[in-house]
Amino acid sequence: MAIKIKTRDQIKKMRAAGRIVKQVHDLCRDMATPGTTTKEIDDAAQQLIDEKGAIGLFRHYPTYKPGEGFPGCLCISVNDVVVHGIANGYALKDGDIVGIDCGVQLDGWCGDAATTILVGNVAPKTRQLCEDTEHVLQIAIENIKPGRKWSQVARLMQNYAEAKGYGVVRDFVGHGIGDTMHQDPKVPNFVNRDLIRHDIHLREGMTLAVEPMCNLGTKDVRTLSDKWTVVTLDGQPSAHYEHTLAVTADGCEILTDGN
Ligand code: MG
Ligand code: MG
Repeated sequence: MAIKIKTRDQIKKMRAAGRIVKQVHDLCRDMATPGTTTKEIDDAAQQLIDEKGAIGLFRHYPTYKPGEGFPGCLCISVNDVVVHGIANGYALKDGDIVGIDCGVQLDGWCGDAATTILVGNVAPKTRQLCEDTEHVLQIAIENIKPGRKWSQVARLMQNYAEAKGYGVVRDFVGHGIGDTMHQDPKVPNFVNRDLIRHDIHLREGMTLAVEPMCNLGTKDVRTLSDKWTVVTLDGQPSAHYEHTLAVTADGCEILTDGN
């Protein structure tokens, strides 16, 4: 595992990419009202990314050859869709939750972040799931420090989510990020034997996309026949929040908060 340490200048460029990701999230939040289709949101996001002179990192992932790979600009994951939802003609309804995941590259450097948007009156348990999953990401932000092992942080995240009774998704994890979207190391939101064996020793200049996914019911998921859309096995809702973070001398900074 080769973890690339980034310079201050490189991190600054990642923050510039992250700023566009945040602008896309804000646009999606404004648009996500009953009656709007996920395709309309996806198209508007693509237009904004183009206007900013950035490159969306999801369309045609992973080969980036035209006609291949992921068909959308964003991953738009509604209700029981965990991640990798594809925009389509579905019109949002009152009570939906909409995961928006966006990655862009600007001047050669990447930002990647996800949020879950609540449309109108969301059922209390589902609303709580979203708040708690966002808090799981906050736990990571508050506990990342040079000298700590990632398993210490992941354990806090997992314990918080599981104490609330949520299923912590095992099949998808966070990742290193830099001049490409997916780099070493894998950054799980839980602790398993593999992580203990290959733990990440947090160091200043590491840049990580941390992205907890919590389900109201079972942690188990399945992929639909489109080969992308991942849904909960029991059909219950799922929430997803992500930030690109840089480990600093005494903690971490968020590169996708729009600052
Ligand atoms: Mg993402
Ligand atoms: Mg990511």
